Amino acid sequence: MGRSLTDDLKVRLNGRTKHELIEGMIVRSPHQMAAEKMVAALEVYPLLLLLLAHDHPTKIWILDRGEAPSSAEILNDSVRQKRWHAGRLCIDDCDGITEVVGNYVAVVVSWRTLLAMRHEFAHAVTTFFSPTTRQKLNTLYREAKTRGAFTEPLASESIGEYVACGLSYFFFPDLREELKEVDPDLHDLVEDLLRQADEISEMISEPAPHPAKLR
Ligand SMILES: [Zn+2]
Repeated sequence: MGRSLTDDLKVRLNGRTKHELIEGMIVRSPHQMAAEKMVAALEVYPLLLLLLAHDHPTKIWILDRGEAPSSAEILNDSVRQKRWHAGRLCIDDCDGITEVVGNYVAVVVSWRTLLAMRHEFAHAVTTFFSPTTRQKLNTLYREAKTRGAFTEPLASESIGEYVACGLSYFFFPDLREELKEVDPDLHDLVEDLLRQADEISEMISEPAPHPAKLR
């Protein structure tokens, strides 16, 4: 019998914790507290998604107060010149930005709010969604547009924003309730996706038999 996917993932994970994976993605933090807040923000994501993002790789650049997203050195000029939301926004109009740059996913966001940090990371996470999941999300987005019902205007801008808002809302009890009311199907799909990712996470992070590994 060949090795299963979860065995492979377990080898890949190699005992790394959420904390280690998140810290491993942070390439710049203005100060220690900002890095700690990022760890707290992203720890809500299933271990599996953190592993996939870390190893992709994903690079996280944390902005300090008053710093413009374009100042992040992990971005390149084509991202700096890009425009979003039907051309209305340029890079420094955005609170945060997540873009593929070369062979990595660049996440640039301020440390000020957990929601913004979780939202930007959600964009990175969608990179790893299966074609089937993408198709389901596209259908839900089309239906939401037909109904004209979104949790916030940003969610209506694109399928990417729709999903990032849905995912990040899910991690806050009050916003999650709002999501459930406004878009129950998206709420349920996100719930399913996270539950599946959590189940796999549990299988790959089984404690090693050696007690020394149980910290
Ligand atoms: Zn966004």
